[in-house]
Amino acid sequence: MDRRSFITKSVAGATGVYAGMTPFAEKALARNMAVTVLNPKNRVPVSFIIDDSTALVNMAYFGIPQFAEVFPDQYLQAWKKLPREIPDSFVREFGEWCRDHGVKGKYSMVPYPACTGWLHRFIPGWSKQELKDSLSLVRDFMSVDWDIHPEMISHTRVINLKTGLPFPDPTPEYMENWEWSQDKSADELTSYLAYALNILKEAGFNCEGVTTPGGFGHRNMDNLASATLEACREIYDTEIPHFFRDVRTGKDESVEPELFHVSGLDTGDPKCSVHVIGCTGDWFGGWDGLEPGNADLFINPDLDGGRLVEVIEKGDPAILVCHWPGIYYNGTQLGFNVFKTVVGRLHQKYDHLVWMKLSEIARYWACKKLTTMKLIGKTLDIQAPFSTPDFTIRINKPVRRAVFENDGKQVVMEKINQGASLSTGKFFIEEKASILCFDLPKGASRILIS
Ligand SMILES: [Zn+2]
Repeated sequence: MDRRSFITKSVAGATGVYAGMTPFAEKALARNMAVTVLNPKNRVPVSFIIDDSTALVNMAYFGIPQFAEVFPDQYLQAWKKLPREIPDSFVREFGEWCRDHGVKGKYSMVPYPACTGWLHRFIPGWSKQELKDSLSLVRDFMSVDWDIHPEMISHTRVINLKTGLPFPDPTPEYMENWEWSQDKSADELTSYLAYALNILKEAGFNCEGVTTPGGFGHRNMDNLASATLEACREIYDTEIPHFFRDVRTGKDESVEPELFHVSGLDTGDPKCSVHVIGCTGDWFGGWDGLEPGNADLFINPDLDGGRLVEVIEKGDPAILVCHWPGIYYNGTQLGFNVFKTVVGRLHQKYDHLVWMKLSEIARYWACKKLTTMKLIGKTLDIQAPFSTPDFTIRINKPVRRAVFENDGKQVVMEKINQGASLSTGKFFIEEKASILCFDLPKGASRILIS
């Protein structure tokens, strides 16, 4: 079951959850309205979320019969006709195309894919060498442009952490996609996430976040956010843990990342958990590789409509969502071809996009929401709990000269013409305001303006 249809089917539940949910509110921070944080380099972030990928195993082939055991009326796909493998040759072809086009995002590595075998041990049906090569491909090649996430442990059955075995009952209460996670404490979820992360760590991957399979944790957001924070810190010492849980495709729904459990901003150990939100459904090839998608839903051939156009024109990060079996589409690459069309249209229409990994978006948003800035006279004092590249701000006055000061060192910022490409260390004047871009250091820094 895919994330989108899950949410559509549980709108009533979701509404209740959002009402009681507590993403971080900015009001607590003293801020000076003369200064606002813009998008990085004054561009619109774009990212591509790939779910249900792992080493070799086609999650649709092995997952459908397990879902069908729980919901026999709903999972009627002829799964035996699907390929059991999505080959590494396709991973490489896809990864190279994305690198050539600057595309970045998140790539799942399900640690115990559909209970077939363990990425850090062996997977029945493939040789030890085949698994090793597949892991190397993702670790050495893909992970340059893609965050690697676990998608819980199996994406199908819940695993009893005490025994390492699936619980015996094939019911929604013991499936990762459905009920098990909805009433668990933050501690219980932390243990579950940490177990998944540990497998990927042993398999040689570095993770800064997690992806939820299907409906995992959707009625338990606070605990899910807390578990992400604790588990990523415990296993990887991640500075800014993030997670992907929701997609929002409604015209007026915000898809700005949300911050949870912010604490310690005035200490040497600031913490937060960032919820990164997808803005599209899987309109590529479906989660099972059996539902042909449509590029026009993202951006139409006239380049003037579609969900991505809506989000990009608002300036929100545009994060596309797909499932790996749908991109491969049983060897025909139908979903991949839809994606190529979408990227072609996006790059044809816009010259102000910036492809980012989810971890980079999470980091930027933590800085955007948690950095305090005070403009007093000709000095902008900045206090940042985290660092980020390409931090971009608007000051509501024309600036002729700007000097960035940090750690006793001063750097004169370069003034460029409005419309020229903004990058770190540069600024330009736009009507009565000025747009400045710089690498934000953790802690105190300031900009002297005149
Ligand atoms: Zn999934």
